[in-house]
Amino acid sequence: MNCKLGETKYPVVRDLAAEKETLWINPDYGKAADLGLTRADLFDASARLDRFAPYMAVAFPETAKTGGILESPLRRLEAMQADVTKRDGYALPGDLYLKVDNELPISGSIKSRGGIYEVLKIAEQVAIDHKMLVYGDNYAKLNAPEFRDLFSHYGIAVGSTGNLGLSIGIVAAKLGFNTTVHMSSDAKQWKKDTLRSVGVNVVEYDGSFTTAITTGRALAAKDPSVFFIDDEGSKDLFLGYGVAAIRLQKQLRDQNIQVDEDHPLFVYLPAGVGGSPSGTTFGLKQILGKNVHAIFAEPTHVPSVLLGMATGMNNGISVYDIGLDGLTEADGLAVGRPSRLAGRVMKTLLLGITTFDDEQVMAYTAEMMDTEDIKLEPSAIAGFAAMAASQQYLSKHFNMPNATHIVWATGGMLVPESEHARNYKIGEALLKQSK
Ligand SMILES: *Cc1c(COP(=O)(O)O)cnc(C)c1O
Repeated sequence: MNCKLGETKYPVVRDLAAEKETLWINPDYGKAADLGLTRADLFDASARLDRFAPYMAVAFPETAKTGGILESPLRRLEAMQADVTKRDGYALPGDLYLKVDNELPISGSIKSRGGIYEVLKIAEQVAIDHKMLVYGDNYAKLNAPEFRDLFSHYGIAVGSTGNLGLSIGIVAAKLGFNTTVHMSSDAKQWKKDTLRSVGVNVVEYDGSFTTAITTGRALAAKDPSVFFIDDEGSKDLFLGYGVAAIRLQKQLRDQNIQVDEDHPLFVYLPAGVGGSPSGTTFGLKQILGKNVHAIFAEPTHVPSVLLGMATGMNNGISVYDIGLDGLTEADGLAVGRPSRLAGRVMKTLLLGITTFDDEQVMAYTAEMMDTEDIKLEPSAIAGFAAMAASQQYLSKHFNMPNATHIVWATGGMLVPESEHARNYKIGEALLKQSK
């Protein structure tokens, strides 16, 4: 590794290189900044999802009961709150909730927010350019054969560790696009199989996510009829995630959860490339303001967003540059280089980032099944690590007695039973050791 960088200028980098569990507090949190994105952008994205709701309801009948709007509940977690705080040995003032994005239709993950949004935006633009659609139409018409025929002249491509490919692949293929998903070696076999079964072209790489996305981007650039959805810097993906905040605000109100100076809200999110947690945090800050605070969680072997933000180098540095291997059981977080957008937009909006050992997420996965009968993938449960690691700091800096805590569960519904059983077995053994 670059010793000057690691050992003198940025002490935190030394801890990261040593794979130590770390809590990094953002020194620029709360400062003024020009974000380059506004609240109006969020409402524009939200309105587009509303226009597409009639299409989603007919094309994906499992979304019909919510009128074609993809949203997940906010669930109170009493049993898990008692169990996890006792086992991890800390007090958690206030109430704990789980945002169950593992139940989001289509990909069973948070990627149903950003990935699907960008596909729909592309479809709308193509249909409008061909004068086959106007904004006031009932978009259910997009489910007709003449639109599939139109979209078949265009390609959609994406690089993915798995879930982004699932959300984009399933919807793009349904609309009729020639769809290609470039998958990193970490991607689970069942995710590739699911995509192939709906007619998506899955290209596999021996290397990391960065290799898959870089190659995918270069291939797409050669063909003007192909739209490349860029997980390393797409504003549309980002805004699709951000719309969650508009929906969450209503869920909080409906459940009588106050958010103000005396009732701060803390949100704990796992970060891979950083797009989904940053987009969500951007939305939360726009909609709920200064009393909502976000903390990200990353594996000790892949602290890509933390490394980028702490050094200010953002996507100019990767975890490989400091000698890390980038390997983790949390396959959705196995991304060595952060997105171009995440660190820049989060510079003043993110409270902090923690890193965790893989054993932690495996134990939480089993504990969540035991206490709440909720099945999550290891990537999806990392918010619990951020919650545990940050309480001591939070108790010194915030008014905690009436706090609300939301662990953002990011995926799991489509995970095969055999995989859940394997995770449970590993996690259960770790739980026994730690109790
Ligand atoms: C993609 C993913 C994340 C992280 O999102 P990024 O945008 O890569 O930071 C977290 N959890 C799950 C389950 C995911 O699929």
